[in-house]
Amino acid sequence: MSDSKKCAHTACSCMTQKGEAYCSTYCESTKGTTDIMCKCGHPGCRGEATAKV
Ligand SMILES: [Zn+2]
Ligand SMILES: [Zn+2]
Ligand SMILES: [Zn+2]
Repeated sequence: MSDSKKCAHTACSCMTQKGEAYCSTYCESTKGTTDIMCKCGHPGCRGEATAKV
């Protein structure tokens, strides 16, 4: 069963571990900020918001 969801960081495209809101402590540290860039460094993370919806 896959219970992962997208990282709560707006600009981050990572999926999180089960029960985690963020993929990394980097993303968690951006909580409350309006950072439009993600620097978590994970492969697959585009590092920027893709407002295409
Ligand atoms: Zn990221
Ligand atoms: Zn993240
Ligand atoms: Zn990440």
